[in-house]
Amino acid sequence: MHFAQDGITMEGKKENILARVRQQVPALSSKMNGEPLVYLDNAATTQKPVQVLDFLSDALKNRNANVHRSMYELSDRSTSAYEGARERVRRFINAPSRENVIFTSGTTASVNLVASCFCSKFVGKGDVILIEADSHHSNIVPWQLAAERAGASIKVIPTDVMTGSGRSGRLDLEGLDGLLSDNVKMVAVTQISNITGLRNPVSQIISAAHSKGIAVLVDGAQGIVHEKVDVQAMDCDFYAFSAHKIYGATGVGVLYGKKELLEAIPPYMGGGDMVETVTYDKTTYASLPLKFEAGTPNFIGAASLTPALDFAEYLRNGEVGEALGSEEERIVSYMMDKLDTPGIEVYGKPDSICGKSPIFTFNIESINAGDLAQLLDKMGIAVRSGMMCAEPLLNTFGAVSALRASFAPYNTLEEAETFVRCLERARTMLS
Ligand code: PMP
Repeated sequence: MHFAQDGITMEGKKENILARVRQQVPALSSKMNGEPLVYLDNAATTQKPVQVLDFLSDALKNRNANVHRSMYELSDRSTSAYEGARERVRRFINAPSRENVIFTSGTTASVNLVASCFCSKFVGKGDVILIEADSHHSNIVPWQLAAERAGASIKVIPTDVMTGSGRSGRLDLEGLDGLLSDNVKMVAVTQISNITGLRNPVSQIISAAHSKGIAVLVDGAQGIVHEKVDVQAMDCDFYAFSAHKIYGATGVGVLYGKKELLEAIPPYMGGGDMVETVTYDKTTYASLPLKFEAGTPNFIGAASLTPALDFAEYLRNGEVGEALGSEEERIVSYMMDKLDTPGIEVYGKPDSICGKSPIFTFNIESINAGDLAQLLDKMGIAVRSGMMCAEPLLNTFGAVSALRASFAPYNTLEEAETFVRCLERARTMLS
């Protein structure tokens, strides 16, 4: 009853909070094809709050100078904003120091960096990289490329669908200990699957891997939005996420790494800013984090992580967090209930091991997911269709494409109801 005060009902107060939050994200009150936009493609990218939009425009006007290079005021301002954002990220994920926080161009770039540099240092012929069946392509392909160069191979933690023990679509961890053999050098896991929306028990996987001295990278592209992340408590060796999925700019990502590992692996790209001294024969590298930030970074985009993460924290704390959290719980149970219908197959059902985030991927019997998405678009609803960069997982489910509705904390139950109503209409039209 936290928000029932002064005669305002709990529901009324919650509605006010939701309206206040949504007013701060201008795209949410736009129209699409003549209808109010219902934006349910947040797993692909999020809409931006005014704080981020204003910040970007102000930075381009008043702080646009290259970072770390010059002795003039404008450049100092830009460097402070860039390094300030690094500190903001450090605090958001509870990294021990700013040296652990590398700016990249996105989750994909962060995973590629680790795959390339970690494997060139620590992985050799006959070694194994363990990935998950529910991985996004960007947590599969970089490992394949690096494993091929190192003469190593890839093994996969299966889903329960593969092993036949039901069809919740979650990882099957029963055989994990057996998979963690001596020659496994890295386990690349996903905190929340962008298909099933299931919250993987990453801490369990990390402690199993660490008990055998194996390093773990966590793909937090979806996890960073829907879970409070503490990299020290999680004890992951590397953690990757993208700014654009958590209300920040595109073309910016973060790689967190443990200091001893970041120091042990070679740089990824060579160029300006990542060096200490350069001669024609030899280069010594800058210390962390700049060792991994060759060239001019997306300094304005990276700096936008400060207002973006402020906004993310505002959404999850206090009475706002309470209101949005309870709305999200209702959305998840409403959607799972409505999708539990004959002719609809949902990929990813929660159970005692994996909770469900508000990401819903499914197929309707005999209807093409792309056709559904196009019809829904005409009704103002933006959802994703296709493989969602997870072809192996969809194939495991016996699908070649699917429809995905992914909610952010700023979405409402009312939007879920509109979605379900429009889906039923589209289904009737296409049947
Ligand atoms: N991993 C997961 C789980 C994702 O959902 C995504 C984006 N859909 C990525 C990685 C890749 O992120 P980006 O395209 O921002 O690099």
